[in-house]
This record gives sequence, structure tokens and C-alpha cells, in this order.
Amino acid sequence: MLIPIQSETPKFKCSACGSCCSHIRGMIPKEDREFIKEFAFGKMPVVQLVPSEQMTFPLWDWEAKRFMEWQHEAKVDANIKPLRAIMDLKSNKAIILTYFMDSATDACPFLKNNKCSIYHTKRAYVCRLFPFNRSPFLNQEGTPLKHGMFGECGAMEHILPQVPEDFNKMVKFLNEAFPDSSFLNAVQNDIIIEWANKTIIDLIRKKVIKPAINYPYEFLLKRISSSDKVDFTDFLVECSYLTENEMRDSIRNFDSNIDAENKIKHFLN
Ligand code: SF4
Ligand code: SF4
Repeated sequence: MLIPIQSETPKFKCSACGSCCSHIRGMIPKEDREFIKEFAFGKMPVVQLVPSEQMTFPLWDWEAKRFMEWQHEAKVDANIKPLRAIMDLKSNKAIILTYFMDSATDACPFLKNNKCSIYHTKRAYVCRLFPFNRSPFLNQEGTPLKHGMFGECGAMEHILPQVPEDFNKMVKFLNEAFPDSSFLNAVQNDIIIEWANKTIIDLIRKKVIKPAINYPYEFLLKRISSSDKVDFTDFLVECSYLTENEMRDSIRNFDSNIDAENKIKHFLN
């Protein structure tokens, strides 16, 4: 009797080629770039502060704070600047949602001799989720599930053709194929994006903030540049939306991927 051979899920193994960290400028999926171009320059509460060609990976505000410290330890100037902000007409403050490294070259300033000089740290989600751009849970309506999910990575060649089309099978496969936790990191980062969007909507609904929308972009930029600035998570504490402890616990939970683990556990049986 022939015994059917169970095909093993291939395992992703980063070859440490450094390619993803060497080209961080403008490296965003096409559909994201189109969305930013259409809406992020003044038509939504969150305003993009630099052209999409200039931007590099987005860092959440708490990640940017860590990078600002690590740059001294690594002896680099990461040139960290605000990337997206809400101009709040109620508090008259620019609330900074994300930052980016305005690197002098295409490469991440922390990349030295083709190695990440802060690899031993938690780094940022964008560092830890690659080769993913996003998880399958953040699917843009109308686009095929796999489209835009991965960035360019030579180590993906033997994985890509085997990614199942069926959503449930895909989640299980991705969890097994990425033992480096990049899949979990991608899921968690998407959960944080969702959390940030929902929180902003809730702040508007409860009239805690009044974002400037539909003003001329140049006017918004000037207003943001001359206003007092506050990081998003600091603002949530400042306006009593969350207590300091609640905010700290949330960031700790984000860091531990606990929400992502809960989200995918139903798919793993
Ligand atoms: S994730 Fe891919 S592109 Fe990045 S260093 Fe590893 S093999 Fe290279
Ligand atoms: S911090 Fe390290 S892992 Fe992240 S982009 Fe820079 S070099 Fe790559």
C-alpha cells in the first residue's frame, strides 16, 4: 500500500542580504502610494507631511522615541522627523502619529557593513515584519488577497508559489512558513493600524479633537510646522482618553504580539 507523503510547509529563512534595509526610501506598495497621493495631503484627519518619494518606513511614535535613543548608542544620526500628523483645531496642537528616518541615502542609517547595528533590540514593526508589507487581514477591497502582501525579497522564491489562495489555509500556512515571527509581526502591525484609526474616529466622535480637513495643503503644513507638537500616545494620556498605565500596558501588549496571537489562533487547528 502506498502511504501518501505529507508535503512539509516550506520555511522562510532570511539570508541577511541586507537588501530590504538598503532601499528604505519610497519603498511602499503601489496601492498605498496611490492612496496617500489621493487622500493624505489634507483630505483626511491624518496629514502626510512629506512627499511619498521622500518618506521611508513609518515608525510609531513610541518606536521613534526608542530609535532616537538607539541612534546615540549606535553612533548614527537617524534624522528622525514627523511623517504623519493631525492638526487639532481644538487644542491647537499638531498630534504626531508616525515618524520616519530622513536618511541621507537610500539605506537605513542603522545599516553598517550590511548589518543592522540595533538588531539586538526590539527594533520597529517595519523592520520585523519584512518580507511582509501587510498581513492578509488588511486586504484592500477588490484586490486579490496575496496582491501587495509581500515586498521584494530573494528568499521568498520557494515560498510564494506555495501560499494557498484559501484564506483559512493561507493564515495557517503563513504562521508555519515564517518561524522568524515576521507573519505575527505583520498581523500585529495591522492591528495597531486599525487601533490607531478607530481611536482617531472615536476622539472625533467624542469631540475630543477637531482635525483640520480640506484646508489647502500648504496652509496645513505651515500650521503644523508652527504649532506645539505632541506624540499621539502622549496626547491620549494628556486628554485623559487613557491613563498613563493603560497606555503603557497597551504598548507592552503591542510589543508582545498578544493581539496577533489571539487573532490567528482560530486558524491553527
Ligand atoms: S528579509 Fe529578504 S531582503 Fe531582507 S535581508 Fe532577509 S533575505 Fe534579504
Ligand atoms: S533598523 Fe535595522 S532592521 Fe530596521 S531598517 Fe534599519 S537596518 Fe534594517
